[in-house]
Amino acid sequence: DTTINMDNHNTMNGNGYYFCSQIVNKARDTFDSGVTKPIEWRRKQLKNLLRMYEENRNAMVDALVKDLRRSKMEAILLEVDYLINDIRNTIYNLDDWVAPVKPPKGLVNMLDDVVIYNDPYGVVLIIGAWNYPLQLLLLPLAGAIAAGNAVILKPSELAEASAKFMVETLPKYVDSDAVLLVEGGPEETSELLKQRFDYIFYTGGTSVGRIVYAAATKNLTPVTLELGGKSPVYIDNTVDIEVTAKRILWGKFINAGQTCIAPDYILCSRSVQDKFVDAAKNVLREFYGEDPQKSPDLCRIINNRHFSRLQALIDASKDKVAIGGRYDAQDKYISPTVLANVSANDVIMKDEIFGPILPIVPVENAYEAIKFINEREKPLVLYAFTTDEQLAKRIAENTSSGGMCINDTVMQMGVDTLPFGGVGSSGMGAYHGKASFDTFTHKKSCLIRNFAAIGEKLGSGRYPPYTDGKLSF
Ligand code: NAD
Repeated sequence: DTTINMDNHNTMNGNGYYFCSQIVNKARDTFDSGVTKPIEWRRKQLKNLLRMYEENRNAMVDALVKDLRRSKMEAILLEVDYLINDIRNTIYNLDDWVAPVKPPKGLVNMLDDVVIYNDPYGVVLIIGAWNYPLQLLLLPLAGAIAAGNAVILKPSELAEASAKFMVETLPKYVDSDAVLLVEGGPEETSELLKQRFDYIFYTGGTSVGRIVYAAATKNLTPVTLELGGKSPVYIDNTVDIEVTAKRILWGKFINAGQTCIAPDYILCSRSVQDKFVDAAKNVLREFYGEDPQKSPDLCRIINNRHFSRLQALIDASKDKVAIGGRYDAQDKYISPTVLANVSANDVIMKDEIFGPILPIVPVENAYEAIKFINEREKPLVLYAFTTDEQLAKRIAENTSSGGMCINDTVMQMGVDTLPFGGVGSSGMGAYHGKASFDTFTHKKSCLIRNFAAIGEKLGSGRYPPYTDGKLSF
């Protein structure tokens, strides 16, 4: 019996391997039946997903409030509406994206057809992270469905309310033979990763990314790894520092800094640092009032483990605190914090911060900033604030990062024609907009010949017996 009782989806009962193989078999049977391939099926699922978002806006916001004390504005802007816009774009372009592509061809193939088919991979596993628990799972889901795959979703166990929402709501809207959910943490995910998939899409930290990649290697399964890292910001002395501070602090403190593309640290000269700190004090007062803990607009830290990690970082940086530096364990609250005069060896510069602490590392100039960046792992995003176009170009050409944004933070995510992903230790592969469709699609090249006599005659020089005469033809 391969039917899975979705009411029991979250209980592996110590029989994880059997449970996971049942789930994967079910997805594979669905894919093999061919039901996910017709464009009508894909469009129907996508429209149902859109309807799910529209009919469950409040439930989605509520889940994010429970998990992260997310404000309604951030919940709508960064997850619900973001999903809605993406899926509308996908539905609108679906016919175009799915259609086989006819690339240009040379003279030799004048009489032939050359075609690239957009094939679904088959059974896809999508593993999500807790920080944007809805968006990070459902955005790739739309891409995978648009591409005609069967999908297994593994929400992050740390964002419990969001996981519960998806487990309860998705089966009411999408074909539950083709979209299956598995709940659980490291143990369950490890069991799942023993199965064979045709594609794995993982979002989360780099160390687990390595585990996922290793598991995929066993079956030569292609992967997208959306990982993290320390995304730097360089600020020069040509910018409007008030606007710069607003743009950086917004990007840093949305979701209380628990954002993969949050600016992790700032590089700038000491004089820019002083101006930035002054501006930041005003901006933070404007954003969150005199006591940011009372602001309804600041999220909380996801759990005690992450809170303690961030508390230890503040404790280790006490002498560098320029703004904030307060915390309240009961409330899992960390105040928006700016650290000044941080040095490369300080503990805060070791790992991705993933919380509302923003260190500033003084550098002499842009060359030193570029060197600093290039001496470290390749970041997910590189931010630079400058009105000097030559300098912006020089930074772009002399560094490597997943993506870049000049003179703002996070807003690059809103451009659906910009593929989003990392490079090196910040990941591999990309998605968003058409890139999501392409990620879950195998581009199958095909040459279609015919039996026209003239074509055969023109091509007959390739057949033995080989002579020099044929070579010069
Ligand atoms: P997480 O703890 O939610 O883990 C990610 C997923 O991996 C979860 O589904 C979890 O169950 C699973 N997992 C955890 N340990 C595992 C193990 N040992 N074996 C198998 N699976 C395991 O998320 P996280 O890793 O704390 O997420 C934060 C990180 O994710 C940050 O580094 C952040 O930068 C990165 N991130 C990247 C992006 C991106 O799009 N590039 C987006 C969000 C977060």
